[in-house]
Amino acid sequence: MSVELEELKDLTRALRRRVSMSDPADWTSAPRSAQKTEMPIAAEKSEMLAELEVKIHACRACPLGASRIQAVPGVGSPNASVMFIGEGPGFQEDHKGEPFVGRSGQLLDKILESIGLSRQTVYIANIVKCHPMKNPADPESRGNDRPPTQEEMNACRGWLAAQIRAIAPKVIVTLGAVPARALLGDLTPITKLRGQWRTYDPGGGLPKIKLLPTFHPAALLRNPDLKRDVWTDMKNLQKELSQ
Ligand code: SF4
Repeated sequence: MSVELEELKDLTRALRRRVSMSDPADWTSAPRSAQKTEMPIAAEKSEMLAELEVKIHACRACPLGASRIQAVPGVGSPNASVMFIGEGPGFQEDHKGEPFVGRSGQLLDKILESIGLSRQTVYIANIVKCHPMKNPADPESRGNDRPPTQEEMNACRGWLAAQIRAIAPKVIVTLGAVPARALLGDLTPITKLRGQWRTYDPGGGLPKIKLLPTFHPAALLRNPDLKRDVWTDMKNLQKELSQ
């Protein structure tokens, strides 16, 4: 292989990384001509996610960055064929640095297991990467969680968009109303939206990704009757992944 060809390949890889990992503040301003249109390969996915994690841990683009104990970028396989997206870290996630580690997380693990998946084979992330708190001055108190504001979601959405482009999953599953609304821009109640296959456009000329909204595990803990619907959704997900 010629040196020129090698250099061209290195340049292409660097350009891909730059576009996929733009900061939230500038991710929409990448020149269209510079946006990548190729699916990342396995080694690139790992590298891109690792670099994103470093940037997310350093991010202070919204006020949540000042009160968090630690940022929670995500967990799982860079080669996952499915991404599960929640709302934001809570008390336990903020302390452990991993999404879905409380009671909801244990239930999510069981749901994954029921269709032959695990948190090691999928990728789990949130719309916002830092813990939204009612009282930001007291990160050590329990019962201090709140949903992220629209401004916080707007500030953070570039990180998730970059993670999705890096992983390029076959399917995205949103957990609860907030991530479904954030990714689809659709205000339809989650009770009507759940179970309906939709698509998410990752931009940059990449193919659209199938998106399945379902209930958040916390909703199942409050109302076990919802488990039947989530089971239906997971069987549909399993069928989609097997095709
Ligand atoms: S929530 Fe997102 S945008 Fe805000 S500081 Fe954390 S990583 Fe940055």
